[in-house]
Amino acid sequence: MTSALPFLPFSKPTIDEATITAVGEVLRSGWITSGPKVQAFEAQLSDYFGGRPVRTFNSGTCTMEIALRIAGIGPGDEVITTSISWVATANVILEVGATPVFADIDPLTRNIDLDKVEAAITPRTRAIIPVYLSGLPVDMDRLYAIASKHKLRVVEDAAQAFGSSWKGKRIGSFGDFVSFSFQANKNLTTGEGGCLVLNNLEEAKLAEKYRLQGVSRSGVDGIDVDVLGGKFNMTDITAAIGLGQMAHIDQVTAHRRALARHYFEQFGSDFEASTGAQLPVADMENSNWHLFQIILPDQGPGTRATFMQQMAEQHIGTGYHYAPIHLFTMYRALGFSEGMFPVSEKIGRLTVTLPMFYAMTLADVERTVATIKAILTK
Ligand SMILES: *Cc1c(COP(=O)(O)O)cnc(C)c1O
Repeated sequence: MTSALPFLPFSKPTIDEATITAVGEVLRSGWITSGPKVQAFEAQLSDYFGGRPVRTFNSGTCTMEIALRIAGIGPGDEVITTSISWVATANVILEVGATPVFADIDPLTRNIDLDKVEAAITPRTRAIIPVYLSGLPVDMDRLYAIASKHKLRVVEDAAQAFGSSWKGKRIGSFGDFVSFSFQANKNLTTGEGGCLVLNNLEEAKLAEKYRLQGVSRSGVDGIDVDVLGGKFNMTDITAAIGLGQMAHIDQVTAHRRALARHYFEQFGSDFEASTGAQLPVADMENSNWHLFQIILPDQGPGTRATFMQQMAEQHIGTGYHYAPIHLFTMYRALGFSEGMFPVSEKIGRLTVTLPMFYAMTLADVERTVATIKAILTK
């Protein structure tokens, strides 16, 4: 039987009226590409990340690619990352001509397993790209201990971790390169966009060159280009949305944590034992709860598709983040195959993302959990 209740999506952006007005002002201003709004947004982001330099881009993907270019990573270099991420994380390694090396994930956190990272290091390893899946950081102390011991750069794929923290410090306020995405579903969105937190102004200057065709000098007395850059700049239209979102980011994080807490209360302590499903790590300090993901009990091929279909019949949207990257056709063609990363493969097949967004209510959580319990205990 199909539900009569309205459809509850798994994610939905919230854009307030003040932001819509601010975008209108930019559109009427006569200056709609990169300009004062981008500068203001970068300044606010820099404040938010403890004064570190920040530059904005038109996606979170090019942000990571540019970080790898600034680090001088290219052909012959290996970069270690996880297979359970959006494919962008591994694609950027190929984009700069380097070799992706996958390390399997930790079954509890579903993030890259740092023991496996250490085991994957070779004399050619130059960098690690950890992903903070659902907004949960890895053990940051251990990550940077490994990086410094082996003299590796770190490009943090913090696309999902805006507002997350580690031991009281914001993700982005410390570390090496830290990359964020402002894509439509992210906790802070500009529709599309991203930003990179850098170590110093020299790196920030390079980031500016890579995002605008490698232009090193431009003015009345001439123009010059000294590196190969692309076209990755953010517009003032987009930056106006970002500024509007910055005004509410702390409330957004707090509300998502309240929703996550309610999910755990509603599932109750016997949910895992009675259904065979697995809840996420109940981290209420560090995670921004970008996603709330459960691992389904394994009922063979089609387990997740059947579950998602049953949820959809009750008008509840779900998603899955992510299918293992190493099993995509293009990655198989590079030599990756089934069986190489068993934890990633199992979780990639059984993970499901439940509704979680700022405009969601506690009643929405209750409806979602009741529906899941009915499905899994049938
Ligand atoms: C969203 C996301 C990206 C890509 O960001 P875009 O802004 O869409 O380019 C990369 N990695 C992860 C983990 C993401 O969630």
